[in-house]
This record gives sequence, structure tokens and C-alpha cells, in this order.
Amino acid sequence: MFSKLNGMNTHPHHRSYDVVIVGARAAGASTAMLLADAGLRVLAIDRQTYGSDTLSTHALMRGAVRRLARWGLLDDVMLSTPTIERTVFTYGDETLSLDVAPEPGIDGLAAPRRTVLDPILVHGARAAGAEVLHQTTFNGLICDPNGRVRGLDIGLATDEELFIEAGLVVGADGLRSAVARSVGAPITHQGQHASAYAMRYYKDLGIDRGAFHWLYREGMGGGVIPTSDGATCVFTAMPQERFRSEARLDVAATHDRIAHELDPILGSAMRHATSVGPVRTFPGVVGQFRKPFGPGWALVGDAGYFKDPFAAHGITDAFRDAELLTAAILANDFAGYEETRNELSIPLFAALDQICSYEWDLSQLKGLHRQLSSAMKAEERDERSAVLVS
Ligand SMILES: Cc1cc2nc3c(=O)[nH]c(=O)nc-3n(C[C@H](O)[C@H](O)[C@H](O)COP(=O)(O)OP(=O)(O)OC[C@H]3O[C@@H](n4cnc5c(N)ncnc54)[C@H](O)[C@@H]3O)c2cc1C
Repeated sequence: MFSKLNGMNTHPHHRSYDVVIVGARAAGASTAMLLADAGLRVLAIDRQTYGSDTLSTHALMRGAVRRLARWGLLDDVMLSTPTIERTVFTYGDETLSLDVAPEPGIDGLAAPRRTVLDPILVHGARAAGAEVLHQTTFNGLICDPNGRVRGLDIGLATDEELFIEAGLVVGADGLRSAVARSVGAPITHQGQHASAYAMRYYKDLGIDRGAFHWLYREGMGGGVIPTSDGATCVFTAMPQERFRSEARLDVAATHDRIAHELDPILGSAMRHATSVGPVRTFPGVVGQFRKPFGPGWALVGDAGYFKDPFAAHGITDAFRDAELLTAAILANDFAGYEETRNELSIPLFAALDQICSYEWDLSQLKGLHRQLSSAMKAEERDERSAVLVS
């Protein structure tokens, strides 16, 4: 067993921490970094292996790129990832190209593979003083007789089980959060619609690697997202009914067909490119907000607020909420965390839910995109969450 672990750190240094975070990706690793940088004793655990992939098209919006710059991590991300200087929207046969305005230290947007981004975040957390253990599983919470969370039971990579005391347990364990389930975190707001997706990576696609391309026709959508190591991710989006009736039978054929219907040039480029790995799918889950705190616990990232991937905004929000939660922990103002998170999120969430209904024509969709864009701009202007890493 030990030889398989390859010299990685397998054991926490202490039995007691100020904060223990379950999940060490976009939300968990960045929260661990910010809290450790503020001087707290932090342990983050993740049941997956260091550097492993996770299902995402990983496009970062301006808020995420700004935070990576603020945290001193952007240069590392950009080493293997192309700079995105334009966003190209194609509505039917009409194309609209918008330049991404550069700003000091930020040349454009980016879409690093999660195998690139998440280890950089973990490295940032460790450099700030947090302990991060992979292949380490959250088994359950330990509560006092009043129901306040006091710690957790974890299973280590060595198969040992440990009880760890924690001033606060943070669930950064994603959409199906076991921490949220354990505390019975109520769902406070829910959408009505969800879209389904198929995605695949390609080498030598021959499509402009300096742009995010978003494509729409009635009843479908897609995107071309240049990413790390010369690969490009192409995703297709469809109503859940089409996914159930058509994609389930032959997902690769459906992915190719939708891409071709969106843009025959894209369809042909995909046929001539080298595909890397299989088509991966996400059948869709309706978005939701959970109450993100209670006695001795808090939630961040998808665990607390999940939205449909169509806006490519989950990582951006995870970074924002890592900052908001850090500020809340330091100020002991968890109600303020929930209030600010909801205030900043609900306008985008509402427009996105409409987009996922597919009950639009292209002119209505443009209106919904304008709503998304103004929600994103309002969020970018809001500096309540800004936390610098020293
Ligand atoms: C198809 C698809 C496309 C997407 N595209 C984009 C996009 O283009 N841009 C974007 O910004 N967002 C996108 N997203 C959303 C984005 O991936 C998520 O919002 C983001 O990953 C959330 O980060 P997180 O850290 O909260 O959770 P996650 O990334 O889900 O990480 C949670 C971690 O918790 C760990 N964990 C879970 N349970 C336990 C346990 N019991 N013990 C220990 N560890 C545990 C898991 O191993 C995992 O590593 C997409 C999502 C999907 C599904």
C-alpha cells in the first residue's frame, strides 16, 4: 500500500484544526489557501488523487482570472494554457465577436484543464500553510449533545480511520455534498430547468485558439474552448428530453450531429481532428442554493450553490465564495456570507434557468445573454469579496 502512495503526505500533522475542509478543488483548495494565509490552522481533504480530472469544460470568466492574479497563481496557470482574447457568439448564421479587454496583469481569459488548475490551487494552499491530503475520505461528522459540529471522521489513504477536531467543518465537496447531507442543509432556492451536455477533447481542431466560441440554434447550443497542452474542448448542449431519447443511444453520434447542426465547419473540423478520450456526458441537474452555514459548519462552491454549466460560471463563483466565506469566518458573519452570495448570484441564476428551458428563439436568447452579462458585470464591480494573498 505505502509504495503505491509514492511518497505523498498521507497523515495529518495534528488532531485538531481551526477549519477542516472536505473537498480540495476550485472551492476547497482556494478556501484552504485564503484561511491559512489569514493565519488559521487548516486541513483540506479530498477522496480523489492529486492532479486527477473532473467533469467540467473549465472556462474561466473574468472574475476567476482576476482572483487567480490576485492570489499570485495566474502565471502558473497560463504556462500551459492559451490566452483567450475574444469571445465569439454565433446565433444561427449571425456571428458577433467581442474582444476581451485586457487589464494590468491580465491579458485575457483562460480555460485550464482541471488537471492543471486544481493542483495549482492545492500548491497555493500548501504554500500558504494549509495541509492538503488526497485519497482521504470524509466519513461523517462528530457533533456535541447540542448538535454543534465539533469535528469529523476521516478515512486516510493508508486505510486508517481518524477523528479530527475542528472549530469549523467546511463542505467544499461538490454538488452531491456529503457534508450538506450530514447536517441536513436546507435547499433555500431552486431553479426549474436543466440542460444536458456532451463534451470531448480534440487535438489539431484547426479552430482559432485565441477565442471562446459559443454557438446557438433553437433547441441546442455548444462551445469550443481551447485549453491546456494544445487540446480543445468541444461541448454540445441539448434539452434533457433529447439527451434521453437520442444521446443515450449513441452519444458520440449525437455530439457530432449537434456540432454539425450548429456549424457545419465545426462538424467537419471535428471529423478531421484527433479526438482525445471518449465523449463525456452530463445529463443535467436543476440548479439550487443551500443554506450555507450552521453551528460548526459551512458550505462553499457547488456544495452550497450549484448552477447549470451553460453559463460556464461555476469555478468563477467557487473562487468568489471562497473569498466571501473566508471573510465571513474571520468576521464571524455567516449570515452576511449567505446574503452577499445570494444577492450576487440570483440575477445570473434566474437568466440561466430561462436559458436551460430552451423555450426561446434566438432574439430572446440574446436578451437572456444580455441579462447574464449585466449580472456578471455587477458581480465583477463588487469588491466585497476581495481577499489578497500575502
Ligand atoms: C459538464 C460541466 C461543465 C462545466 N463547465 C464549466 C465551465 O466551463 N466553467 C466553470 O466555471 N464551471 C463549469 N462547470 C462547473 C464547475 O466544474 C463546478 O462549479 C466546480 O467544479 C465546483 O467546484 P467545487 O470545488 O465546488 O466542487 P468539485 O469540483 O465538484 O470538487 C469537489 C471535491 O470534493 C471531493 N469530495 C466529494 N465527496 C467527498 C468525500 N466524502 N470525502 C472527501 N472528498 C470528497 C471530490 O473528490 C471533489 O474533488 C461545469 C460543470 C459540468 C458538470
